[in-house]
This record gives sequence, C-alpha cells and structure tokens, in this order.
Amino acid sequence: MHIQGVISQATMPSSPPLQSLVALSARIGQDLNLVQAGGGNTSLKENGSLWVKASGKWLARALEEDMFLPVPLADIASNMTAGRESFAAYRTRSGTVLRPSVETTMHAVLPHRVVVHVHSVAAIAWSARADGPESIRSPFEGLRWAWISYIHPGLTLAKRIEEELPDKPDVLLLGNHGLVVAGKDCDAAEKLLYDVERRLAVDAQPAPAADKQALERLTRRTQWSLAQDDEVHALATSIRSCKVAAGGTMYPDHCVYLGPAAATVRGGESIDQAVERYMTRYNYRPSVLLVEGKGVITTKDLNRASRELLLCLKRVIERIPADVSPTYLEDWQVAKLMNWDAEKYRISMARGQL
Ligand SMILES: [Zn+2]
Repeated sequence: MHIQGVISQATMPSSPPLQSLVALSARIGQDLNLVQAGGGNTSLKENGSLWVKASGKWLARALEEDMFLPVPLADIASNMTAGRESFAAYRTRSGTVLRPSVETTMHAVLPHRVVVHVHSVAAIAWSARADGPESIRSPFEGLRWAWISYIHPGLTLAKRIEEELPDKPDVLLLGNHGLVVAGKDCDAAEKLLYDVERRLAVDAQPAPAADKQALERLTRRTQWSLAQDDEVHALATSIRSCKVAAGGTMYPDHCVYLGPAAATVRGGESIDQAVERYMTRYNYRPSVLLVEGKGVITTKDLNRASRELLLCLKRVIERIPADVSPTYLEDWQVAKLMNWDAEKYRISMARGQL
C-alpha cells in the first residue's frame, strides 16, 4: 500500500539504535520457539516517537522488509486518554503506509527504551499453567518481574500495566499469552530475553510415534492429508496432549490462526463426523484434526502461518508438566479475539505475506 507522492520521497535515515532493533527483530523472528507467523513485536523509543513493528508483519522479514513505523508518543498518549483502540496509519522510512502493531500502547507505557514482546513456547507454556503465578517465582528469582493475568491484548492490557504496575518491571509474563522483556538498549533487552528463556526452559515430554498407515487410510480420497511437519503428530499420539489441546484455547494467536481449541477424531469416527461435532460446538470449520492416538491431519491448503502455530501448540503442551492443569481462555474472550476489527486487519496482513 503506497500513497501517491510519498514513494518518491527520500528514505529517512536509519539511526544506529534503529538498525540494532531491525537486526534484533530479524534474529528473534527467525526462531520459531520465540515467534510464530505475524506474532510478537519490538519497539524503540527515540526522539519522542515509538518505532514499532507494523501490524501483521513477520519479524522474521525485518531485514528484507521496511516494517517499522515512527508513532509519536503524544499520539499514543492521546489515544489512551480517549480510550481509542485503533491507530491511524503511519509511514515507514521508505514511505509505505501501514498501521502499527495492535500492541503499540503496551510498548509505550513501559519506560524502557527497547521493548521486546514474544510468544515464546517456553513462556506460553508457563503462562497457561494453573500454578504459574506461584511456581514461576523460583525461576524468576532476582529479576524485576510481574505476572499479568490474561487480559485482551491492546489498550486494555496497556491500561492495566499503566495503572497496576507503578514500578514498571523489566519482565512481564502475560497470562495465557506470552512474554515482554525491556531494557535500556537492544543488547540489554536481548540478553534479558535469553536469560528469561533459560530460566523458563522445561524438558518436553516424549510421545509415541504416529500411525501413518491409519492416517493414510483415513484421509484417502478426502481433502485432508498427513500433517507436513512430522513433529506435530505428537499432539495426537500423546493422549494427554490431545486432551489438553481439545480442552480449549490457551492463548490468542492459537485461535486467531487455527480457530478455538483443537478438533479431534475419536476412535471409530469419520472425518465428516468429527468436523460436524467440532462445528456444532464452535461454529468454525477446522483446518487441523487430531486423530486420537494416531497423529495429526490437516487440510491440504494449510498455510505456513497455521503450520507455525500448530508446531507452537505441540511444543507448548509438551512443556506443561503432566501433574499441572492447563488454563484456558473463556469462550467470550476467544470470541472477542476472533471478531476484533484490529485483529482482523492484522490477520489479513499476515496472510497476505505468503
Ligand atoms: Zn502478543
């Protein structure tokens, strides 16, 4: 999307801190354990503006694509005062007009110069544990941190940080969502991110191998095929993972890209019966089916974004210990995420990427 007359303008110079932010964003974006599809966002405060990732853009492409927008901090403050959820469009350095990340306000309310928000597998797994707020005290010892129980991303989340956290910690564990780390510059934020990731590391639980013959039989002459990423079969071959996945939606990007919870195929059920059972409950057509005890099948056109979120789900669930209950979003919270206008814009931008 370009505006006439803007393209010919000279590209704004890039400061060394902004170059560092772009490089850091690309590094983070290329690690599926930190960021999937268009999720996650990074920012830098400089000369009264917040340089923040544009909505829906993939951090992984930060070096190839101009995706950072300078949003005046004054604009963010007045949006917040007015209770406005959505932002106007701004120009990137090269003149492309885009809307800033839906999480822009959250970046602005933290005083740190650099803020990094990721949907890391390790952080999501902790954020979806019923015992999370208590159990995380030990791995987080020595950090300035806070746990924020789930709240709709965007303005409401930013307001809670603004109002309830006067100390503005360096690490925020967002319940049923992800992680925020902040620092005085890119190096400090990156070091802190990897320190937190090490503290949150949990061994994955093993799962039986897929029964590919059974999956081949089930999908023959259908629009479905075996999951392209072999690893994800564990979601269905582990009965516990299958149950946790089907139990509900654990974090926003799961329902944004894959729909609510996970659809399963029970023993003796056909694909059509399984799809109908799920649609009766969720009014959403599934693109992924967990065939209980056998493996995972997907629609043949499953895109890369959905594949990345499916891998994320598998890695998150196998990192929630068997003796710990998972927590889920409420149905109304899922509905809000899936119908949210700003989110729809982000989804369409993210899908347009591939
Ligand atoms: Zn997020």
